[in-house]
Amino acid sequence: MLEAESLHKSYAGQPAIDDLNLCVGKGEIYALLGPNGAGKTTTINCFLGFVRPDKGRVLVNGNDPALDNRRVRRSLAYIPEQISLYGWFTGVENLSYFTELAGERLSRQRCESLLIESGLEPDALNKRVSGYSKGMTQKVGIAIALAKEAQALLLDEPTSGLDPSAAYEFSRSLRALRDRGVAILLATHDLFRAKEDASRIGIMRHGRLVHELAGTELGHAELEGFYLEAIRD
Ligand code: ATP
Repeated sequence: MLEAESLHKSYAGQPAIDDLNLCVGKGEIYALLGPNGAGKTTTINCFLGFVRPDKGRVLVNGNDPALDNRRVRRSLAYIPEQISLYGWFTGVENLSYFTELAGERLSRQRCESLLIESGLEPDALNKRVSGYSKGMTQKVGIAIALAKEAQALLLDEPTSGLDPSAAYEFSRSLRALRDRGVAILLATHDLFRAKEDASRIGIMRHGRLVHELAGTELGHAELEGFYLEAIRD
């Protein structure tokens, strides 16, 4: 569903992505790890069509965002580290607004049921989002992905700043999306959640994918050891 083929991107002669190859299948969670500046966000931005590769290509369900960004956007959902919602709108109003922007009109009832499915407490549905915690805001992001029936979901450091129980709840929602067949690619510094949730883990360094591991292969301490070894200069 998500493929990067011999991907290169440089800024001022410095490679941000250097010959990256990866693929994420339907119903798979793939976690990209790596130190600051390793190229994780640039990779995600190539899939989103925000960044144009210098060489190589990315494909989303066989479509290249550099050639047909509209089609690609329809099949993707994106959850950044900080989701920007309208603080004066309620959760229901935000979901309704963003899905309408994407070309779909949902009933209030449908919005409520999607938000509840995403883990939002019923008493929060009609409260202003300005009073939501980060975990609650992320749930609205999940509901937008569900409403869009996205085939692939891209996330950039989604659990940063979440407390462990909010991060756990968030990953439950991700697993539910995975079980529906959504291909999920997330960039994260959260080794614990990567190990718990991802079927594959890629470690990036200086724009290169230096290791790829099966999440189930290792214990937490082993993954940490592997990571520290992989990013050592
Ligand atoms: P972090 O974990 O800090 O988010 P990252 O792995 O996501 O880091 P990127 O943000 O992809 O890393 O950055 C990779 C490299 O590309 C870095 O050296 C960064 O400074 C550079 N870079 C990214 N975007 C730009 C840009 N728009 N202009 C110039 N350099 C950029």
